[in-house]
Amino acid sequence: MSLPIGVLSLQGDFREHSQTLDSLGLENRNVRTPQELESVSGLIIPGGESTVIHKLAVAYDLYQPIKEKIASGFPVFGTCAGLIMLASEIIDGTSDQASFGGLDVSVRRNAFGNQLDSFEADLDFVGVEGVVHAAFIRAPIVERIGSEVEVLSQLPDGRVVGVRQNNALGISFHPEVTGENRIHALFAKTVRTAH
Ligand code: GLN
Repeated sequence: MSLPIGVLSLQGDFREHSQTLDSLGLENRNVRTPQELESVSGLIIPGGESTVIHKLAVAYDLYQPIKEKIASGFPVFGTCAGLIMLASEIIDGTSDQASFGGLDVSVRRNAFGNQLDSFEADLDFVGVEGVVHAAFIRAPIVERIGSEVEVLSQLPDGRVVGVRQNNALGISFHPEVTGENRIHALFAKTVRTAH
């Protein structure tokens, strides 16, 4: 069975996600229209700027369909801005910003802002053997976790940077920029199990 993975390609580093899926030999498609959304078995929401991704999703008639699909269990994987787009609550968002939902978490945008804009770290990640080398770029942090949410990864100081709830996976960092493809492989497994 063909289970193409969609990459929401409105803004941000969607090309790097396509390349990461290519490196795993996984069929993938850009998603920019409701028809393209209907043709995929799961969706990656890339890093970029969550306020812009939200605005463009509304403008491209994708906001409501994506939100509804996620609510009915469609597999999704958000990285950085994509994690913000999956959070049930956005802290430090703009007043008109909205997410798709999918993860019962509160996520703070630009959580490292005054401290460190961008940095890299080696992390443990549930379901991945060995360390994950992670790039954080104006990254969000998960500050509250609902009772149904599983923590997959934390910084050494305990701050949460990877979560899963049912078929929704969200991470604060960018595996697609460090040549790390094992979290994409984990998501592909979720897509296969869901279908
Ligand atoms: N700070 C960005 C936002 O709020 C996320 C940054 C990123 O995706 N690298 O959407």
